[in-house]
Amino acid sequence: MNTSGPNPVRGLMLVVEGDIGNRDRISEELRRRYGADYDVRAEASTEGGLAALQSLRDENVPIAVVLCGAGVSGDRDEEDLPALFERVRALYPDAKRGLLVDWGAWADPPTAQLILRLMALGRIDYYVLRPWRSPDEYFHRTITEFLLEWERATSLVTRELTVVGEAWSQRSHELRSLLVRNGVLHLFHASDSPRGRQILSEAGLSDSDLPVVLIHDGRVLVNPTNAELAEAYGVQTHLDGDDDFDLIVVGAGPAGLAAAVYASSEGLRTLVVERESIGGQAGSSSLIRNFLGFARGISGADLAQRAYQQAWVFGTNFLLMREVVGITSEPPWHVVTTSHGEQARARAVALATGVSYRRIGIGGLEALTGSGVFYGASVSEARALTGADVFVVGGGNSAGQAAMYLARFARAVTLLVRRPSLAESMSQYLSDEIAAAGIRVRLQTEAVDGGGDGRLQQITLHDRRSGETWTEQADALFLLIGAEPRTSWLPAEIQRDRWGYVITGRDIIADPATDWPLERPPLMLETCVPGIFAVGDVRRGSVQRVASAVGEGSVVISQVHEFLGSGLSANVRPEQAAATDEGR
Ligand SMILES: Cc1cc2nc3c(=O)[nH]c(=O)nc-3n(C[C@H](O)[C@H](O)[C@H](O)COP(=O)(O)OP(=O)(O)OC[C@H]3O[C@@H](n4cnc5c(N)ncnc54)[C@H](O)[C@@H]3O)c2cc1C
Repeated sequence: MNTSGPNPVRGLMLVVEGDIGNRDRISEELRRRYGADYDVRAEASTEGGLAALQSLRDENVPIAVVLCGAGVSGDRDEEDLPALFERVRALYPDAKRGLLVDWGAWADPPTAQLILRLMALGRIDYYVLRPWRSPDEYFHRTITEFLLEWERATSLVTRELTVVGEAWSQRSHELRSLLVRNGVLHLFHASDSPRGRQILSEAGLSDSDLPVVLIHDGRVLVNPTNAELAEAYGVQTHLDGDDDFDLIVVGAGPAGLAAAVYASSEGLRTLVVERESIGGQAGSSSLIRNFLGFARGISGADLAQRAYQQAWVFGTNFLLMREVVGITSEPPWHVVTTSHGEQARARAVALATGVSYRRIGIGGLEALTGSGVFYGASVSEARALTGADVFVVGGGNSAGQAAMYLARFARAVTLLVRRPSLAESMSQYLSDEIAAAGIRVRLQTEAVDGGGDGRLQQITLHDRRSGETWTEQADALFLLIGAEPRTSWLPAEIQRDRWGYVITGRDIIADPATDWPLERPPLMLETCVPGIFAVGDVRRGSVQRVASAVGEGSVVISQVHEFLGSGLSANVRPEQAAATDEGR
């Protein structure tokens, strides 16, 4: 492999094709377009492909993409291809895996079945149409997307930031998780690793300064707050004197970002306030496969970055790393206050604050949060868990996705589920993938305790059926045990149900316990305070999916227009108007 010279090749593309014409054409197409940066190697059979994979691994050659042709092993495709792709995943967890098919092959039932099966089992990232002319830009679109995703997932690319910290410290984990969820490429070095020690000594720092963040332009941040880190990265964390808007959106998850895109694109002056990371819960999802238009799935962080940029180019103002702690209404204005005491006002507000992870409430485990115990999928930790024993608690899709992602790196992954089956709570495609990936599923079993010396080392499990309790060695525990809205900071007038979900629209009218102040009925997504809307997971009755959050965030803007444009806010109940007149 050519690794000499100023620009050594980044990795290898492996093509496994039985037909010599296809093999030569695809190899040539790849070499012509990517030859300066990637080596291309071709094999004629799955046996050859498997042998090549092992020898390349032994020689430590990075592989970016493996393309294997349907039909390469004839009738044995059903067994050989899944085995080959599985081997790729075991040896090269980040390499992108594509099944090569001819244009129109989806009309051929065996090929269509093969594609569906390999996708369902998570054996391939997608199917790739064999190039049929040169250059074939459709072919290259898939390949360049593969390369971008591979580059983002590996450390071969120049990183914008480098973090040096203690491997198992809570704050190191928080910083890395924040960076991953905001889509910031970064490197992490444990402070006791040779590279970590070298960086600290070159910067004249010691272990008491950890964690340390180095920005690519040479700046060094010592134990920065989230806001300091965001500012150093060029993110807006202050209002800059401009504090009057048509719409303030609280929360930048899928619902808030969709509201921002639609509002700004339709000319509303819009501010989005987000306390943590762009993308909300979706930002922690390693692969969203059910969002319309992304046939081979998209990572939550990637989707969020695209939406953020889309809103930004339409002119949305963002205030990040700032939590909204209060809303007061002085018609026609609603005034929003942040935890830093800043205020902004708007004639309409959209609450898109989603839900937060439910806590497990077990002292021994809570004490190790960030030190082996993690809430959420925490993509940032997965690579560090290569060869580790990992437990995931939860029976929903988010737990299933986390288990699948962790299985790429961990020695063993165990899914702990309280219910007697996964059928009610997890999509069929995910439970199939879990079974195929060899993830151990323990039904009706819960984690009841855990401990370790400064980090998680063992957990105690309890079988609800047999009543048995025992302890197992564990390097990490991921908790995805449901979520709840954190809405206690909202004023009492914005009424919520007993779980904290915000009540909107028809539910307000239907519920005699709620109080609606106007003659006109509330708009579909309007809360009990006219002009304040709720969208996405925080709203009672929402479907709790990315697409529905995006849908509500989009739909609410027409209601905001209706509210702002037709004087709906002035339409008070007659008895209230009289009471107001008397009070004058
Ligand atoms: C690991 C995981 C995987 C998932 N996978 C899928 C999937 O594959 N497909 C699917 O359809 N759904 C999936 N979901 C569910 C989906 O992510 C949610 O339904 C969706 O993100 C809800 O969007 P939202 O905007 O309503 O809320 P959220 O995504 O929860 O976003 C709310 C945002 O508001 C911010 N916020 C909260 N309070 C304040 C405040 N006071 N001030 C400022 N900001 C605040 C939060 O920091 C957060 O960023 C997954 C969820 C998880 C956790």
